[in-house]
Amino acid sequence: MTQFSNYSRRKFLVAATATTATSILLKGCTGNPPDSTTDAASSPAAGATSTVAPGQEPEVTTVKLGYLPIVEAGALIIAKEKGFFAKYGMTDVSIDKQASWGAARDNVKLGASGGGIDGGQWQMPMPYLITEGIITDNVKVPMFVLCQLNTQGNGIAIANKHKGKGIGLKLQDKASFFKQLKSSGTPFKAAYTFPKANQDFWIRYWLAAGGVDPDADVELLTVPTAQTVADMKRGAMDAFSTGDPWPYRIVSDGSGFLAALTSEIWKSHPEEYLALRQDWVKQNPKATKAILKGVMEAQQWCDDFNNRKEMASILAKREYFALSEEILLAPLMGKYNMGDSDNRVVDDKSLAVLYWKDSKGSVSYPYKSHDLWFLTESVRWGFLPKDTLSNAKALIDQVNREDLWREAAQEAGIAAADIPTSTSRGVEEFFDGIKFDPENPKAYLDSLKIKKV
Ligand code: CA
Repeated sequence: MTQFSNYSRRKFLVAATATTATSILLKGCTGNPPDSTTDAASSPAAGATSTVAPGQEPEVTTVKLGYLPIVEAGALIIAKEKGFFAKYGMTDVSIDKQASWGAARDNVKLGASGGGIDGGQWQMPMPYLITEGIITDNVKVPMFVLCQLNTQGNGIAIANKHKGKGIGLKLQDKASFFKQLKSSGTPFKAAYTFPKANQDFWIRYWLAAGGVDPDADVELLTVPTAQTVADMKRGAMDAFSTGDPWPYRIVSDGSGFLAALTSEIWKSHPEEYLALRQDWVKQNPKATKAILKGVMEAQQWCDDFNNRKEMASILAKREYFALSEEILLAPLMGKYNMGDSDNRVVDDKSLAVLYWKDSKGSVSYPYKSHDLWFLTESVRWGFLPKDTLSNAKALIDQVNREDLWREAAQEAGIAAADIPTSTSRGVEEFFDGIKFDPENPKAYLDSLKIKKV
């Protein structure tokens, strides 16, 4: 599959693959869908013309990528389903649903050769924690961060029993409410699906900005994804920080309301990333760039709101999210019925999950300044030692491969205007007016009233 050296031969081959895809797809409809869609041929080629240029043919055509059923995985699933991976020669990409973040971590530690995965979708700074062996029982599994998968598309859901108590984006005078619950022995329980990563950070940032100390005034806990909706319903937790469509689903189910969207806490914030094991990338540098090109093209496709209905129908499938298309479509279109006592409705595409471009520019490009924020926030809450910041630059240079992103973007013919010229996105501003200057993370830490460091 890798030796066509002229355009017409490549074109012929893609046409042949597309025909095979149709027949296997039909067969797939009659059987039980497998847990992972490993057969390459289930990717309809979407009329894509192969653009595998001479010298860019991938070393392998297969890779195993893990994902969690939240909108963050959108571009990975679309790259497979719409044939964008295949277009760049990655004809056998396996997109494997992970039971939990912990399972994804365990599987990447095994690697595909050990029955696990080569990489996939991650919250931050998981690739760093895995690289350093911090969440892998001190076994260092070096990872490379390759691109950002999305921004926004996450939210903080609150149980219905707290409706009408003024719990919204800005908590201000509500700190006493949380402290009182704590002192009366029924602490406010806020959950996420994996500790010390995005969802933990978003709920901590939101609480602390409102004068609530997440370590002293509430109880934070990890709840497995499968349990979250049921736990919210039976009142076992008061809040849940997670990715779409789960917050929306909680509102639809009538078990809770949305206090805030993460896009309201930090517009165009960094969210989840594609990262692979370093050993895989080093063995397969061209295949790595082929994966990146496929993801980039999928991200552009996903960002066209005219495609979002089709995207919802693909993600809703039994082998992916196994949800109703309607629950997915509303948040994908930036429509959030917040379900609070004010009946607040958000209808704003700029606050929805975005995959390619946002108000700040590139979504896909992995800014090193964002990795630094995640490491700084880890120091803020005592998840990582303070000296992490003095070594952060070297660590980020070791893990973040924005150089591969640039090469892949150039090879894919991405317009120069869409390729950032700096590894820093510059000063970031949060909803409470706090600023993070990547040139001075210590000033950011100093400016925060509530912190553990
Ligand atoms: Ca997320």
